[in-house]
Amino acid sequence: MEALSVNVAKRTFDAVIVGAGGAGLRAALQLSEAGLKTAVLTKVFPTRSHTVAAQGGVAASLGNSTEDNWHWHMYDTVKGSDWLGDQDAIEFMCKKANEVVIELEHYGMPFDRTDNGKIYQRPFGGHSMNYGQAPVMRSCAAADRTGHAMLHALYQRNVRANTQFFVEWMALDLIRDADGDVLGVTAMEMETGEVSIFHAKATIFATGGAGRIYYSSTNAFINTGDGVGMAARAGIPLEDMEFWQFHPTGVAGAGVLITEGVRGEGGILRNAQGERFMERYAPNLKDLASRDIVSRAMTTEINEGRGCGPDKDHVLLDITHLAPDTIMKRLPGIREIAIQFAGVDPIKAPIPVVPTCHYQMGGIPTNYKGQVVVPKDGQPNSPVAGFYAAGECACASVHGANRLGTNSLLDLLVFGKSAGETVVEDFQSGQLKLKPLPADAADVSLARLARLDGQTNGESVFDVGLEMRRTMQKHAGVFRFDNLLKEGVQKIGEVAERAKRTEIKDKSKVWNVARMEALELDNLIEVARATMVSAEARKESRGAHVRDDAPDTAENPNGRDDANWLKHTLWYSEGNRLDYKPVNLKPLSADVEPIALAKRTY
Ligand SMILES: Cc1cc2nc3c(=O)[nH]c(=O)nc-3n(C[C@H](O)[C@H](O)[C@H](O)COP(=O)(O)OP(=O)(O)OC[C@H]3O[C@@H](n4cnc5c(N)ncnc54)[C@H](O)[C@@H]3O)c2cc1C
Repeated sequence: MEALSVNVAKRTFDAVIVGAGGAGLRAALQLSEAGLKTAVLTKVFPTRSHTVAAQGGVAASLGNSTEDNWHWHMYDTVKGSDWLGDQDAIEFMCKKANEVVIELEHYGMPFDRTDNGKIYQRPFGGHSMNYGQAPVMRSCAAADRTGHAMLHALYQRNVRANTQFFVEWMALDLIRDADGDVLGVTAMEMETGEVSIFHAKATIFATGGAGRIYYSSTNAFINTGDGVGMAARAGIPLEDMEFWQFHPTGVAGAGVLITEGVRGEGGILRNAQGERFMERYAPNLKDLASRDIVSRAMTTEINEGRGCGPDKDHVLLDITHLAPDTIMKRLPGIREIAIQFAGVDPIKAPIPVVPTCHYQMGGIPTNYKGQVVVPKDGQPNSPVAGFYAAGECACASVHGANRLGTNSLLDLLVFGKSAGETVVEDFQSGQLKLKPLPADAADVSLARLARLDGQTNGESVFDVGLEMRRTMQKHAGVFRFDNLLKEGVQKIGEVAERAKRTEIKDKSKVWNVARMEALELDNLIEVARATMVSAEARKESRGAHVRDDAPDTAENPNGRDDANWLKHTLWYSEGNRLDYKPVNLKPLSADVEPIALAKRTY
């Protein structure tokens, strides 16, 4: 039979990048400035990517207001990750931070300033001075709109470098040949519904997170884990997907984020009795302990009946003691959000908040160079030729079991740049080749579309999506329970079966949002399965993954079981199979001391 793909339009580039958030734009800049013919595909206009919503800041040990150095940043990041982060990648990121932030400043990023003209820095959760002794001012900020400022600076720089954007193009599937090498992607132009092949020597995924697998989420509606889903369907394992960050302060009922920068500026969490309860849970860093710790403390307060409001279902974030001028200058966007979504002016009254799904620590496995790595021939981290990833869709792994606030924007800059540099090097050394496309390169995508067009008596995309979000929220939330996880695995399997039969009533091609949502659901389902199966299997508590049957004991501090579980999870879509690989506890440089395992307290 003739391959379906013969009539599909083909476009050829040196490199194709999927995603135009912070990671995609930073990578694109590296390629375009080196003269590579680079295509960037994005579902939305670049400056509407979720990076635009980042509020609090980007971490770098500039030491502009308090003493700081990258060793302390590295220590905080390893400890924050609950020792699941790879120490080579963490060293690389913390060391590079100053360089990439100054670079951004030179691109025109409008950072706030200290009185002597340096980049303004604020304290943030889990970031400390002198190995955990006191909060440090490390988060470089542009008011509470840091991501917005960053994305615009990067976009403008890309326009100057002649990066070619394909705006409102949705990548559908990864193209691999018989050797497993990556040759590009298939993509649909959203305006026409037509499918094309983007054939390239290098493919970089920078598709962002998948927080939309949960019912209550701070993430944008476009955060559907497309890159992660595409990789999983193409046989790439997903790393550490059981670890999801719940941000302590989503607006109760709405999920919209209130940045941790509010607590950095002096905000305090209070329960129904008005008590500053974090003093009991984290005597040193208090409200600025790491996110997993604060989210669990809040959930415990609510579960034990000390929640606020008629339903006792949230706690309060209080900044009424701050000067109105400080709020207007440093947190203007937050004041707006509180008025719009919670109906309170934080200058006068505290904001009702609850922990809300925020960030995926896991993703497509990469090394610190941005190469996608998989187990092959006895090697746990063998690069996949032609395939790179950076940003929230990737797992480098610097965040391990729990990410520190402001380390993600840093991750985008460092690993976006590093993936770009690796591609440029591989390109210039002649190592990257344009391998011939297989005849059936687009068949998988065309078959998915044909299935959707032909489906009758099918399932509603909305209903299946809702069932998935409810299942994730209930069975893999802030606290995890063995019986709920077991049930969750079964339920999410059933939801995945239903997702194979989704039906759209409108079969038209032009701007068919229903079709796009059905395709996005396929990706979300991969992420949800990976999360539930990986979480059920990990029989310890670590970072954001805390189980009722793995409590804090003398033998297993914080419920962590290093003897059996100090390892990365790898989940394969095919066969719903799990594998594991070692954590790299060795820093990159011989003269850097590894951060030794210890109990995590703040
Ligand atoms: C509300 C909020 C506030 C945050 N605040 C901070 C903060 O202050 N500091 C911090 O460090 N971190 C913060 N984070 C986390 C951080 O912002 C994100 O992790 C980061 O911005 C993700 O960047 P990215 O480049 O990986 O992806 P994104 O910015 O999400 O961009 C993804 C890109 O991929 C494209 N895309 C996706 N799928 C497809 C497809 N199929 N085809 C084509 N294109 C596709 C999208 O169009 C988009 O351009 C925050 C997150 C949220 C949600």
